[in-house]
Amino acid sequence: MDGVFDGDDLWRLTLQHSPIGMALVGLDGALLMVNRATCDMLGYDAESLTQRGFQELTHAADLDADLELFDQAVAGEIDSYRLRKRYLHADGHVVWGDLSVALVRGQDGSPLHFISQILDVTEQRDHEQRLEAARAEVEYEHQTLEAIFEAVSVGLLLVSSDGRYERMNRRHRETLSLEFPDGHNGQAGQLGHVYFQDGKTLMSKEDMPSYRAVQGEEFDDYTYWVGNEPRTRTAFSASARQVRGPAGERLGAALAYQEITDLMRAMQVQDEFVSSVSHELRTPLTSVLGYLEMLCEHEELPPDVIAQLRVVQRNALRLRSLLSDLLHVGQVGEDRLKLQRTRVDLAALVADAVEATRPSAEKCGMAVEVAAPDHVSAVVDEQRIRQVLDNLLSNAIKYGGAGGSVTVGLRQGADAIELEVSDTGMGIAQDEVEHVFGRFFRGGEALEQLIPGTGLGLNIVSSIVAAHDGAVTLESEVGRGSTFRVTLPHQSV
Ligand code: ADP
Repeated sequence: MDGVFDGDDLWRLTLQHSPIGMALVGLDGALLMVNRATCDMLGYDAESLTQRGFQELTHAADLDADLELFDQAVAGEIDSYRLRKRYLHADGHVVWGDLSVALVRGQDGSPLHFISQILDVTEQRDHEQRLEAARAEVEYEHQTLEAIFEAVSVGLLLVSSDGRYERMNRRHRETLSLEFPDGHNGQAGQLGHVYFQDGKTLMSKEDMPSYRAVQGEEFDDYTYWVGNEPRTRTAFSASARQVRGPAGERLGAALAYQEITDLMRAMQVQDEFVSSVSHELRTPLTSVLGYLEMLCEHEELPPDVIAQLRVVQRNALRLRSLLSDLLHVGQVGEDRLKLQRTRVDLAALVADAVEATRPSAEKCGMAVEVAAPDHVSAVVDEQRIRQVLDNLLSNAIKYGGAGGSVTVGLRQGADAIELEVSDTGMGIAQDEVEHVFGRFFRGGEALEQLIPGTGLGLNIVSSIVAAHDGAVTLESEVGRGSTFRVTLPHQSV
């Protein structure tokens, strides 16, 4: 051994202290000399290692490849080779090594031995494997999302924060040609055949769903019609969400478009049906009520007949009020709620409405309090605001519970009027609060207690208030009561 590096202590020192595993390997594969790094890597001391050949330390799966190269080198076909292979550690686990082998020849050119350098790449290999697994997973996710993106029947669009169309699926590509038959420039806000929910008013740039989303808005159920020809227009409901980076910065927006033409047409038909049926029924009912009125005035009729006629009359009156509710709903659906505004004293209107409900309140043992200034002047549709009051008051009594109390508040603010109707009754469950203004909605508790109703009253309230550009809100706690608050804006004041 000494003869090999005779006189070359520096070389020996370098080999011993190299952080890379180094070994002198005989032509039969025996390890003639190993450094510390090789011992550490394979878990043997130097003496045990030098009693072994590399064949014994190589993982069976990589042995053939190594032997083939080794034999080629011994045969003089190659002078060096490099191989990534597995070694077996003394405790049995696998160590990955990046092996470089160089053949050392004697003066006469005959092969003497090999110098092997082995870099332990186990950690790197683990890391690579984990990276590969993660990459495969990301790719799988990507492919899955891609398939879903293209397969769904909902139109999907991704826009950048400056409004560029970045990606869209097949469904959205198809509908783009309806909106923009002359082509789309790939930028949010381009004007096309896009109409508001009424199907008549063209959308401006600021109203286009993609433009609104680029401005940072998030919304759901934004309904509009698309297409040049009114009879074949398609209705969509759009939702938008912002896409944000890790630091919360806005990267763009994602939009989803669902086609709802059938639903919209069915709703139109329903509105037309409700409107025409209630209209048709009103005329004969008016005649019935007229004749009933005349009949009740016949003094020669026996009192029990008069009493029965009064029952018929009461029910016919209920029918008339029901029909007028239905007519109202039909008109709103057809976008025909026209207001007849006049200057009205709301304080007097509130006092009248409260007076009219007093008998039914007293029947339930309920007190009705009013907190209002002497006069509150506003330019509103008197009949319709009276209907708002009547509906809120009758609900407060109906759902207020016997023995409770109802409070009506009226306030004139600097730029709005506030009208409040509170009761101390059953209240409304939180998950129902957002639905109570919907058409034909009836609360679970009301149904359970068999309290009669149609689910139209609050819908009418909200449509009348909306026609006045106002808002109606509800605060309620189950078992404690409800407060409905109507705000009428400045223009009504
Ligand atoms: P209706 O009273 O005919 O059912 P409304 O549209 O007036 O229809 O009310 C819708 C639903 O809202 C009611 O069925 C009831 O569940 C609930 N609701 C309305 N007002 C009140 C109230 N003051 N207290 C509790 N629940 C109420």
